[in-house]
Order: sequence, then structure tokens, then C-alpha cells
Amino acid sequence: MIREGKKSIGILPVGDIPFLDEVNRTVSETFCLPVEVIRVGLDLRSAYNPERLQFHAGTILRMLREIPHPFLKLVALLDVDLYEHGLNFVFGEATLGGREAVVSIARLYHDDPERFLSRILKEVNHELGHAFGLRHCPDPSCVMSFSNSVLDVDRKGIQPCPVCRRKLDSILLSLGIHPC
Ligand SMILES: [Zn+2]
Ligand SMILES: [Zn+2]
Repeated sequence: MIREGKKSIGILPVGDIPFLDEVNRTVSETFCLPVEVIRVGLDLRSAYNPERLQFHAGTILRMLREIPHPFLKLVALLDVDLYEHGLNFVFGEATLGGREAVVSIARLYHDDPERFLSRILKEVNHELGHAFGLRHCPDPSCVMSFSNSVLDVDRKGIQPCPVCRRKLDSILLSLGIHPC
């Protein structure tokens, strides 16, 4: 476990989550911070909506806020389907500039493992981007562009566009992190 105070990003897998090494590496390269996978039991029952057969993303975000952790940002990667009020589903959720993020792999599966992996990397970088303070980007190739469907996810890149990259770098600098 990384000591309290050291700036790092935590990844909390919940359920059957593949490619953790690859996610770890890409998140570290994108946000210029060490990344650590943590294992904490998360009881999702109170987030479950039996009428929708889905889990409420906002409730899981609140659960994450209650976990004492040393990370600058903590992203939970879940294998269950997530929703938010007014939406059929969400790939993930984060508060702008908040400390926690959630991402679901439930709708990202593809028979081609490379495609599956790249979808996961995009959604993790996207939600962490929000947590670092990045908003949605109009550039469809930017990882911060909004995805309504998995087709939108496939269209965008894993990394932020140059405009978002510059914003991210200045945010990192303001947090005392050297852009990489
Ligand atoms: Zn978004
Ligand atoms: Zn962008």
C-alpha cells in the first residue's frame, strides 16, 4: 500500500475485471502518477435497483467517498451494469474535480480482446479526466468526447486531444504533479 500523502491513483476492481495491468499502465502514462490496484470489499446491494436490474452509479460514487483511502483519485471498475436517473445506462460517472470515479465494463465487451481493452482504457481515462476537472470535448477523437453508445466509444481515442492535454497538464501542475 502506498503511504498516505504520496500522490497516486487507486484502481478498485469490483467483480471480474480483466486487463488490470494494462489499465494500470495506461492510467499512469496518461495522468503522470503511480497507480495502485486495491482490493476492498464493496457491498453493492444498496445501489441495486431490482426494477431496472441495474446498479445506481451515483450511489456507488457515494460509497467510494466513504472509504478512507490515500489516493488523489480512486476509480472503481465494476462488471455490473450502471444507470443514472433519466438515462438508460451509463458507462461511468465522476464528479467534475471530485476524488472518485466509477466505470462499468458491462457494456464494453467485445470478442476481440484488443477492442475490449481499448474500450475499457477509454472509459477509465474519460471518467478520471472528469475527476481531474476536464469537461466534455467537442473533438470526437478525444477521450473526453461524450459517448452515447459503444460506437462513440470505438470512434474516440484513448488519450486527450492536444487542447484537453494542455488543460490536464496545467491541472496536474496546479496539484504539484510534473506533467509527463
Ligand atoms: Zn463524460
Ligand atoms: Zn479534447
